[in-house]
Amino acid sequence: MADSIPVPAIIVNHRGAARLRGGHLWVYRSDLVPPAEAPAGALVHVRDERGRRLGSALYSSASEIAIRLLSREEITEEQLPLLLRERIASAVQFRQHVVRDTDSYRVIFSEADLLPGLILDKYNDVLSMQALTQAFDREDLRQIVLDSTSDHFPDCNVIERVDPHIRELERLPRRASQLVHGDRSSTIFTMNGVRFHFDGLGGQKTGAFLDQRENYAAAALYAHGEALDCFTYQGGFALHLARVCAQVTAVDSSRPALEVAERNEQLNRGEHRCGEIEWIEANAFDLLKDYATAERQYDTIVLDPPAFAKTKRTVTTALRGYKELNLRALKMLRPGGVLVTCSCSFHVSEAEFLKMLGSAAADAGRRVRILANRSQAQDHPVLLNVPETTYLKCIIANVIT
Ligand code: SAH
Repeated sequence: MADSIPVPAIIVNHRGAARLRGGHLWVYRSDLVPPAEAPAGALVHVRDERGRRLGSALYSSASEIAIRLLSREEITEEQLPLLLRERIASAVQFRQHVVRDTDSYRVIFSEADLLPGLILDKYNDVLSMQALTQAFDREDLRQIVLDSTSDHFPDCNVIERVDPHIRELERLPRRASQLVHGDRSSTIFTMNGVRFHFDGLGGQKTGAFLDQRENYAAAALYAHGEALDCFTYQGGFALHLARVCAQVTAVDSSRPALEVAERNEQLNRGEHRCGEIEWIEANAFDLLKDYATAERQYDTIVLDPPAFAKTKRTVTTALRGYKELNLRALKMLRPGGVLVTCSCSFHVSEAEFLKMLGSAAADAGRRVRILANRSQAQDHPVLLNVPETTYLKCIIANVIT
């Protein structure tokens, strides 16, 4: 038998061990017992201070998240390709069960698919792969992922998306996003019957918040009348609302995003009913204030701002921002009106978000009923004991009086 590639062992302290035994996949660098050394992106074996085996993990020599557990068993480098292929196959199979009414969804969601550090999104016939760690940037592992991806989706083009900030954090050499398989990186994709442009590499990059796909459909069930979509980006909610509302006003501070939104609107003309959408470039906070002063009223308001709390420390400020938006929106809704309010801040819990909403309703003097308490679409599954895999909150509520 050929000699196996040696697998370095990393020792974690009691806190790191407790975290892994508790079901999390990460160990922070501060919980490694020095000298913790392994090559960048290596497969490592993890042991506690008494030498007990905790499994095999992928190691980062740069990130604060030094270890991402792959398996509770110790595996060898030779066993790694098969393990990855099996994990990819089960991620693909899972989506076949849960994804409906779309040609676009997240195929691999990192930790939640036990492939920590790997993201794969499908936009119709273009797959977008992203390696978030040194391990998935390893040439051999990238090749396994690409081969396996081509086996599952033989007719798809594949692009590799690069986030320069993440590459810097992982101390990986700079690289541009690129086409790695096939001959095109742009396409038109469909969710819930609504069509969108996707351009993974072009001058004006596009993409969608695939995690909101089921929430778009849910929002359209309740939306009616005159609608306002704040933070519309490329029109995700607005285009869905236009199917059921008489008039939609959609707001974003980004001109390039609105340009794509308008092109998306044109894509959807004709085939189905598509109400008139007015696209406005503005700061949503200012606009809501001005519209409130002008006593404008709506039947449906969507709030889907960017993550206000990027760290734990900014939660209080973030909640203040969410409250300001929600308070203004609630005041502007006609009786029977519908509020769709979202937060993608992982650091703001669902309980805190609901409390904020309750406080906004009280201050607005409105009686509000929750119609649906939703989260991310099912192709972004949640791994219990890895709280970082739950982040999206989407509450659909109606103002009774
Ligand atoms: N609702 C969108 C996603 C929103 S992402 C969808 O479903 O696709 C957040 C958006 O908020 C981005 O497009 C960003 O340009 C916009 N944005 C950030 N700050 C803003 C502000 N103060 N006012 C208006 N838009 C803002």
